[in-house]
Amino acid sequence: MVYTENYPVLDETEWKDYCQLPGIHSKETPSDWMKRIWDRLMDYKNRGRLAGSMKRYIIANKMKYLWEGDLGHAVGVNIAICYSCNKLVYSNIGCKYGICHFMDKHWSTNCTGNAYCDISFRDYIEFKNKLKSGLTNSFDEKQAIRRYELWMQNAIRRVKRVREIGRKIRAVKVIQEKWLEYFYRPDGLCALELALHYQLLWTVREEMRQINNV
Ligand SMILES: [Zn+2]
Repeated sequence: MVYTENYPVLDETEWKDYCQLPGIHSKETPSDWMKRIWDRLMDYKNRGRLAGSMKRYIIANKMKYLWEGDLGHAVGVNIAICYSCNKLVYSNIGCKYGICHFMDKHWSTNCTGNAYCDISFRDYIEFKNKLKSGLTNSFDEKQAIRRYELWMQNAIRRVKRVREIGRKIRAVKVIQEKWLEYFYRPDGLCALELALHYQLLWTVREEMRQINNV
């Protein structure tokens, strides 16, 4: 398989939109901006009319005016919309040489979608092998490999987190059961209660320790 990005040739209106969609207006919040451009952006996306990095995310920019009456120039800001999870992404890491590192970070950590990774495991292995044996030096394939690896990191992180949550839920259940046992004990002797209370705390601690070591 050969992986190539489709680079559409834009007509005049499309080109104008391509330049204007990223612009956050002066009184807009990022959410206002997202709401305002969303339908048009998705329409372009669904018709395959987005080019370059805008295929997977759009980075906001703001006009900067250096003096009064200056026509201004657009400056990228660290806010983007990710089309995988359809959310605004904020970051304090910038973009360099046309590659947006904060999108890498978002995709490898907290993106809940997976549309940014658009090759299968088989393709991934095939591209890796081709690259290793020098059969290809395709920029698009390298980028596809990179996105697959970001997705893998994200997936691994997610599985780990689910396990963590599972452990915590089990621990909470153990504690709840113990407390119920404690509360519904028929005898009401203070000293005994106190002793049981401490005993219980120690049991819970021990169980927590065991559960956390699973
Ligand atoms: Zn995302």
